[in-house]
Amino acid sequence: MDVGLSWVRVAKSLASIEVDPMSIDAIVVTHEHTDHVSGVGVAARKLRCPVHINIDTLSFVASRLKNVGRQQIVPTDVGKPFWINDLEFTAFPVPHDAVNPVGYVVKSNGLKVGIATDLGYPTNVVRHCLRACNALVLESNHDRMMLLDGPYPFELKQRIASKRGHLSNDQSASLLSDIMHDDLAVVLLSHLSHENNTPDLAFGASAKVLNELDRHDITLTMTYQDRPSDVITVE
Ligand SMILES: [Zn+2]
Ligand SMILES: [Zn+2]
Repeated sequence: MDVGLSWVRVAKSLASIEVDPMSIDAIVVTHEHTDHVSGVGVAARKLRCPVHINIDTLSFVASRLKNVGRQQIVPTDVGKPFWINDLEFTAFPVPHDAVNPVGYVVKSNGLKVGIATDLGYPTNVVRHCLRACNALVLESNHDRMMLLDGPYPFELKQRIASKRGHLSNDQSASLLSDIMHDDLAVVLLSHLSHENNTPDLAFGASAKVLNELDRHDITLTMTYQDRPSDVITVE
């Protein structure tokens, strides 16, 4: 899902958790922002694998995919499932300042994972799609106070906090509370800002909600930009 780092770094990270980089069968793209696609061209060329991407996003990423075989590009549509081996992927729209940004629901063997990073707020569609997932990869981008008091220029602060920006820790925690159900087992908080967040603040906001709901059975953890996250098994 996305290749926001150089392929060299991605390959190294995969190898460090004992995943052969060449075992990756496909790339799925969420939107055209650099932190999601900077390594996509090289990765696709090395892996010679399909790149699933919607045509609006493709138009912005085309220059990065110049030397990628045409037959490797697989256009996707929101709401229309496609398969990669035994995983069924369905894209859903998210509100973000990109041309056609999406999150994904991935189903396999009766389990469902929801992936939503880079969204300004949880729309009804987002809530609907993330409901009934067994695992969630959910953005917890910034702490509102850190963002407001932080070093970013005013316009950038506005953009991040806007309805087409990123989810704050509190927004993620409250979304989590809204969509809570018995079979939710794992939550990976993702897309944490280096400047406007800390792992403790992100974790704290969601952990508070899980505590209040007495859901000590749920594994709450993080993904990081500079190292692989823990490998988590959902049964
Ligand atoms: Zn991003
Ligand atoms: Zn983005």
